[in-house]
Amino acid sequence: MNSPLTIFDAELKVFGAPGRYVQGRGILHRIGDFAHQVGRSAVLVADVHILPLVEQTIRSSCERSGISLIVLPFQGRLGPQTGGELAAMLGAETPSIVMAAGGGRAIDAGKALADTRSLRLITIPTVASNDAPTSKNYVLYDEHEMLLEVRHLARNPDFVVVDTAVLANAPKSMFAAGLGDALSKKAEALACAAGRGVTMFRSRPTLLAGTIAAACYDTLIAHGRAAYDAAGTGEVTGSFEAAVEAMILMAGLGFESGGLSVPHALTRGLPLLPGVVAKPHGLQVAYGLVVHHRLLGEAMPAALLDLYRHAGLPLCLSDLTSTRIERSQLIDVAQASIAVPHMLNFPRTLTVDDLVDAMLAIEAETIRRPAVAN
Ligand SMILES: [Zn+2]
Repeated sequence: MNSPLTIFDAELKVFGAPGRYVQGRGILHRIGDFAHQVGRSAVLVADVHILPLVEQTIRSSCERSGISLIVLPFQGRLGPQTGGELAAMLGAETPSIVMAAGGGRAIDAGKALADTRSLRLITIPTVASNDAPTSKNYVLYDEHEMLLEVRHLARNPDFVVVDTAVLANAPKSMFAAGLGDALSKKAEALACAAGRGVTMFRSRPTLLAGTIAAACYDTLIAHGRAAYDAAGTGEVTGSFEAAVEAMILMAGLGFESGGLSVPHALTRGLPLLPGVVAKPHGLQVAYGLVVHHRLLGEAMPAALLDLYRHAGLPLCLSDLTSTRIERSQLIDVAQASIAVPHMLNFPRTLTVDDLVDAMLAIEAETIRRPAVAN
């Protein structure tokens, strides 16, 4: 289903958000209470690997709250057929709520089912690897795992339930990807606002969303390093809580109503390079932010560089792929990326040559740069 806002209106500003965002240690035990505010029956779409970690908690909580529950494990490809396949698995069952639990893909699979059946939606991120949980968007991939399409639900999720005890046990590498996805949002919102950029609501960015994207960045500069150290240990520290709020809530609101730019547009072309398709979205975005700064003629802020090095985020293509890259391959990346509308959200019109030259300059600089230890 398409968003009702399908025509760009230069006079229009739109701010979208989930109905409720709830974050805290052990909050998953209360999922039934939250669901009860939305409906009386639910289907849980959960990543097959995550399901054993959350199923019993969700089942017990739903039982206490009088919510009937069907469980659909999700694995495999997230493609144009996913919503229909999950709907077929439901058969004649008619739950009113989709609970989508897992990383980006399982959450997007749940969104696809909610879209197909016009159901209410509760997202339950189990890893802070991206900002999908708060947004109305979901992405689909082709059979080669290349990004195929971004679809839009009519509304943002009714609830976003973030149990930081679950997230603190998720792999550190996925937390690094989440940092990469979130750190770019301030620069992207600024670039969108500076030009004639358009947000995910096909409207001009709100001032509030830009402010949130800036708060996301500031929070991660202040807490990202300590939060990264805590990630994967199971310990929920104050910095971890702050960073999770920045990476899921602030980054989500910031991009959706503030707009995206070069870093996200590049994720369309970067997977054409050998090995990059297997790299998490957030690491591709992190490299995209390096290119974004280069195109603006700005140096990366020192505090941002420090966080990149600490969390092992890619500062050049050699950090994303071990294969030596030729100019012709960068032209392919640039051509695929320049077609993405976010690329127009920039203070000046960008060309394929601009992108290729920026990527080459970063590689040349990297070769000259002495190795820096974490
Ligand atoms: Zn992203």
